[in-house]
Formats: sequence, structure tokens, C-alpha cells
Amino acid sequence: MAIDCLVLGAGQEVGKSCMVVSINGKRIMFDCGMHMGYTDSRRYPDFSLISKTGDFDNALTCVIVTHFHLDHIGALPYFTEVCGYKGPIYMTYPTKALAPLMLEDYRKNMDRRGEDEQFTSDHIAECMKKVIPVDLKQTVQVDKDLQIRAYYAGHVIGAAMFYAKVGDAAMVYTGDYNMTPDRHLGAAQIDRLQLDLLITESTYATTIRDSRYGREREFLKAVHNCVAAGGKVLIPTFALGRAQELCILLEDYWERMNLKVPIYFSAVRNFDRSLINAPGPCVLFATPGMIVGGFSLEVFMQWAPSENNLVTLPGYCVAGTIGHKLMSGKPTKIDLDKDTQINVRCQIHQLSFSPHTDAKGIMDLVKFLSPKHAILVHGEKPKMATLKERIQSELGIQCYCPANNETVTIPSTHYVKADASGTFIRSCLNPNFKFSTRSSTDKSYLDSNKSKAVSRLSVSDDRATEGILVVEKGKKAKVIHQDEILHMLGEKKHEIQFAYCIPMPMARTEDLSSTSHMLCGFDKSTLISRLSMILSDELSEGNILDLGEELQVESFRVSVCSSDNCPHRLSSSLQNGSESVFFCCNWSVADEKLAWKIISIMKNSTL
Ligand SMILES: [Zn+2]
Ligand SMILES: [Zn+2]
Ligand SMILES: [Zn+2]
Repeated sequence: MAIDCLVLGAGQEVGKSCMVVSINGKRIMFDCGMHMGYTDSRRYPDFSLISKTGDFDNALTCVIVTHFHLDHIGALPYFTEVCGYKGPIYMTYPTKALAPLMLEDYRKNMDRRGEDEQFTSDHIAECMKKVIPVDLKQTVQVDKDLQIRAYYAGHVIGAAMFYAKVGDAAMVYTGDYNMTPDRHLGAAQIDRLQLDLLITESTYATTIRDSRYGREREFLKAVHNCVAAGGKVLIPTFALGRAQELCILLEDYWERMNLKVPIYFSAVRNFDRSLINAPGPCVLFATPGMIVGGFSLEVFMQWAPSENNLVTLPGYCVAGTIGHKLMSGKPTKIDLDKDTQINVRCQIHQLSFSPHTDAKGIMDLVKFLSPKHAILVHGEKPKMATLKERIQSELGIQCYCPANNETVTIPSTHYVKADASGTFIRSCLNPNFKFSTRSSTDKSYLDSNKSKAVSRLSVSDDRATEGILVVEKGKKAKVIHQDEILHMLGEKKHEIQFAYCIPMPMARTEDLSSTSHMLCGFDKSTLISRLSMILSDELSEGNILDLGEELQVESFRVSVCSSDNCPHRLSSSLQNGSESVFFCCNWSVADEKLAWKIISIMKNSTL
């Protein structure tokens, strides 16, 4: 079984997030975003890679959208109303409520820029009717095999990470998330799940952020300095998300500093656009973010030429937007199109706080979930490569950062469920306790001035269970105890025995040297009892039994060999030519270690 991930967007870039994952026969599209940096066909994911014939209803089991940002949902009305996808679409309740506002705001801006209309207001409304809203942590059965569940992601209102499970294979697609709480949203929360795959955003793959407080103060200082000098502050934002947080921050500051300078929102109904030409300082939140076009671009064109004014930009702007151009170097002129050029003399302040997790947050999440594989999307290629290395070397998790239109295939889990026999289960019940003492200095046990080490007994139960997995054709797999296997197979028990005939040298004492034939001088039981004495001196384990003509230590048996043609003999006598007695040994495989220990004692001893 395998999981195939086809990257239709946000592969080694930020923009048009779209990932089609085939998992145990189900096919899920995660996010359906647009790229704000392009106006041509590259704006949308290449949906033809999902189905050549355009039969998307059969090609996909469902679509899941993580949040209302356009790079995650911007292509959805186009996909449903123009491409014709009619299958189920899942998102959280807040995302369903707010997405139409974002899409409508964008559509109007497209209109104003004179671009081809890719979808209409009706398209947005029709598209949203197909959406099935879900609650956080609610398990949704998409069909009898596919289960999905949303988890709180922080980032923006309604943003969710999605868990999907088909059979034994499971994965999480994070969308955008934040691992630290900000002023109006909490940190992402997810259960510890058993995952084959984690697909995570990596916008800030190499950034580690310090305290939020200092970064907020920088922003407030820049805004305050500008309005105090009579300038105008443009804060380009999308209607929802970032705007709410910055607004809370500014209002709080305005109150504390008792500032009277007006703060405007262009996204409110009936906003009076002439206010932007009013004299005196002001702060304006204008949509869309990143100065993609629309009203924020109009205002930017008017305000940018004055050095009194200030434009704040988010920590991340998509390549191709004016926001991105302003952040790359310090341009004094920006070409809007071949006829229009904007003089840029205003101040630029880049916000260093962001609703995206930093590198530490990504590492924390990957470590917490410990998936078998991780895929990075929604980031910049070189930084993603660095993070990928860290995930592989520090966490030992296989990691990939595929480009757009590439497919990554990873193996998926398939559990074999097996019955267990009663004998096997009983054999598992025997505990294997290990006792150890460790000394610790516990403060409550301390005398006033004399420290006393307290040793504590700790008990652990290291149970390892051994059984035999039996898989028979057409039958359910079964785990049985080893004693049951013979009965099950109808076989007799065979035991492997080892045998070795070993010569031992005789001591050259006077009375021995006069004896011509050893075995005449000593009867077998005398030789055996001599050997018994040697072994009891040298052998630290095993119980030595002297049975007269035979010695026995566990399954190891030794007796004097009287056959000159013993098949277990390697050589007919000792190499140094001294007189010797042959002992025939045999043992079963379980006592192999013991046997070789005894043999080595015999080799190094003299009778
Ligand atoms: Zn987002
Ligand atoms: Zn995004
Ligand atoms: Zn022998």
C-alpha cells in the first residue's frame, strides 16, 4: 500500500496551495488556492493533472479547505463552477462564513484591474452552497472508508489542520498554522496521532523568533513616529485575519498614549474613499494585502511619493506582488505596467511578527506527531532544504520538499489483525520484574544541615513475548505459543543434538607412565569422577551430575569414548603425541553456550 501526493501548488513556493493525496484508494484534494503573483494560467493549479477528461467527481473523493486565505481557497469557485467539480467540500464553520467575503473582495479587485474574470459573484455563492461545514475535533465519515477530523491551527479565524484516515493509513495536512498564541488567536492544538505522513507548511523554515513584545513595540513606534510628524500610515491587509490583530494592538496603544489620529478601515461597508485625500495624519487599513491591486494599490500610488508617509508590510509577501517588490531591496521606483511608474519615497516597515509558525514551531510539531514521513510545502526552496535536513538528521524522519506538479510516493501502514491462542496469551502474563535501586536526595528527607541520600527501589516489568505468527491461506492469521505448533502441524518434535569427541591429555605421573594401556589402569568411572572434579573447580554455572559412567550438566552429557572409529572425532589423537583419553560429548541446541564453555575447559585441562 502506498500514499501518493501530487503537488499542484505551493511546491517550493508560497501561493496556490493544492495537494492531491491518494491514500488507500481514496483521493483527497487539500486546499484549492490561487497564486497572487500571477495573472496568467499559472494563477490556478493545473487541474488537468487530476483528470485528463475533466471527470473530477470520479477522480476525487472530496476537497478539504484549511482556511479562508486566497492562496488556499482562491481557486475553489473556479474549480467547482467553471471546471465542474460537484463532489463534497469540507471546511470549518468560520471558514465557510468568511470565505465568500474574501473571494468577493478579490473578485472586485480583479475587476478593477481589468483582468479576465475567472469567476463571478454567482459562482462564489453557488460554490459555497456545496460546502459541508465541520466542527473542530468532530470526526466526519466522508464515506465508509474515509474519516476526517479538523484541529485548531491558530493562524486566522477558522483555520484548521486536517487529519485523514483510510483503513490503517493516516495523515495530517496542516495548512497554515501558528504554534504561539497571538493577541486574538491561540496556538495550534492537535492530538498525538499515529501518522504515516505529515504535510506541513514551512513559510519560516529557518526563522527563529524572539519575544513578541519587542517586535510589536517596533511596529507601534514606526506608526507613532509617522503620525506624530503628520504622515499617513498605509497598512495593506486582507479583510480578515492579520487586520484584526493589528487593530487590537493599535487601539490598545492609541488608548494608552491618548492619541486622537483617526484609524480607518477600507473593508467596511460604505467606506468614504475621499478620506484618503483629507489633510492631516491618519492610519488606514486597506484591502487587499501585499498590495496585490485594488484599493490598497490605489492608496499606495497616492501616498508612496511622500517621505512623510509609511507603508507597513507583513513578514511575508508572495513573489510577484508589489509588497514583495518593496521588500526586495529599497526600490525608488516601481513599474506597475509599461505606462505607469510609481515613485517610492515613503518609509517601509516590515512587520516581524506573523501568524505563521517559526522553525522551532515546525520542529516541535513534527517531533510531537512523529510521522513516518514528512512533506514540506508553502515555503522557499533553499530554506525548505535546510529544514528538511534538520528533520531528517535530528528527528530521523524521512522528509521531502517536492516541486509543483511532482508526485511523492510513500509506503503506508497496513496492519494484519491476528487472533491469539489461549496458551500464547497465558505465556504473556508472566511478568519479568527487574528491581533496581537508585539513590536520590529528596529535600523532604533532609535533616536541617545534613544531607542524606535516600535509595529508592524501582521496579520495571520488561516483558518480551515470543510467539509464532501462523498465516494460512483463507484463514485469519493467528499467534500461537511455540508448544502448540507441533500439534497444529501434526508433526513430531525433532531436536537437534550436537556431538563432539574430544581428547584429553593424561598427566605423566610415574605410575601412569608405566601403564601401557590407559583404560586398563583406570576404569571409566574414575576418569569421569576426575573430570567431574575439574569441572566443578572451573565451571561457574550449571549443576554437575556424576552418574557413574556419565557426567551431566543440563542437557550436556559426557562419557568415555571406547570406539576407535567414533564418527564425532576430528583427529585420532593429540597432536603433541601425549597419551590421551577420548570423551564423547553431546548436547542440545539450547545449551550451546554452556557446552562450548565445558569443552574449552576440557581442552585446557589435564586428567
Ligand atoms: Zn494563510
Ligand atoms: Zn498560506
Ligand atoms: Zn566418541
